[in-house]
Amino acid sequence: MERLQKYLARAGVAARRDAEQLILAGRVKVNGKVVKELGFKVSDRDVVEVDGRIVKPEKLVYILMYKPAGYITTVDDPFGRPTVLSLLAGKVKERVFPVGRLDMNTEGLLILTNDGDLAMALTHPKHRVPKTYLALVRGTPNRAKLKELEQGVLLEDGYTAPAKVNFKKPEGKNSWIEITIHEGRKRQVRRMFKKIGHPVLKLIRTRIGFLTGYGLKKGSFRYLTPAEVLKLK
Ligand code: URA
Repeated sequence: MERLQKYLARAGVAARRDAEQLILAGRVKVNGKVVKELGFKVSDRDVVEVDGRIVKPEKLVYILMYKPAGYITTVDDPFGRPTVLSLLAGKVKERVFPVGRLDMNTEGLLILTNDGDLAMALTHPKHRVPKTYLALVRGTPNRAKLKELEQGVLLEDGYTAPAKVNFKKPEGKNSWIEITIHEGRKRQVRRMFKKIGHPVLKLIRTRIGFLTGYGLKKGSFRYLTPAEVLKLK
């Protein structure tokens, strides 16, 4: 049994808040009767209608994708650029959405799901899921600069939390650096490296918590196993 608004959210009718409004407005029926009570409990055996149309929750799915550069992490793009969802078209029938964001030019791991609760938990700063990136940066940052990143640098939106930083290898005049952060501010890794004078030339997300890209080719995806989903929660 679950609350009616949660059932509606799982059915993809609306986010939970908006589902509450539908209920209060008398647009939702359970087994043929209008229900305006937010705490009303329903099970998958009840027949739930919104504006006379029967709605059913979708199966919850959890996808790990290796996003290629050149795709945007939104459900819809007003400029018609390719979205990460276009990589699932015809293969996944549930209406999933990306959890968090990768810049258009960033590649690497991205979780997509239709489980709003998990999405919220993973993006909440309190959850502190570490995310690891490999960054090709201009030049060769010295140890002091890398230490600055580790301790936190001042960006427009405040100091960054402590990060783990490892020099990996040089590439010509540039360097590959691995960085692990827990926050998910907009363009955070790019802004951090810019701040220390070594702008990012290429950015790859290699880990989300315990999840790695092992076995995933660029543009491909796999379903998370039930055990992996439990571990994420
Ligand atoms: N940090 C960035 O700057 N870009 C990303 O896509 C992810 C993290």
